[in-house]
Amino acid sequence: SLNMSDEVKKAQEAAELAADGSPPTIFDNIISGKWDSDKIHEDDLCLAFRDITPQAPVHFLVIPKNRDGLTQLSKAREDQKELLGHLMYVAQMLGQKECPDGFRVTVNDGKDGAQSVYHLHLHVMGGRQMAWPPG
Ligand code: C5P
Repeated sequence: SLNMSDEVKKAQEAAELAADGSPPTIFDNIISGKWDSDKIHEDDLCLAFRDITPQAPVHFLVIPKNRDGLTQLSKAREDQKELLGHLMYVAQMLGQKECPDGFRVTVNDGKDGAQSVYHLHLHVMGGRQMAWPPG
């Protein structure tokens, strides 16, 4: 039945999301559209959307659509270098469009990096003078 195939599809998707051994995060729901987000860019490899708790007038996140083990930057594999470059490229493309006077790109990694969502994401912040060093 249609219901059954929907269930199978859901199960397959869940299995795929969990394939890297880590539980899905809120970002999977944003990618699937189950949760609303203010998307500003989407392509085959990545999604960019505005941070729900902005730390600057402009604050958005760039994330890979397929996490594929990239729970955090320090899990990056050599075969993901092109994807990482793509995320950085998209971050600057959107960053200079929204923040012509400059912007900051940040990746929080792990406990000391104050990472809270374990699906790699690049923060892009701007629209004001940023301070240095960060906290
Ligand atoms: O780098 P870190 O893991 O701390 O960043 C996670 C970011 O995801 C936070 O800035 C948080 O505001 C954002 N977030 C979001 N939408 C959610 C959950 C978290 O934009 N639904």
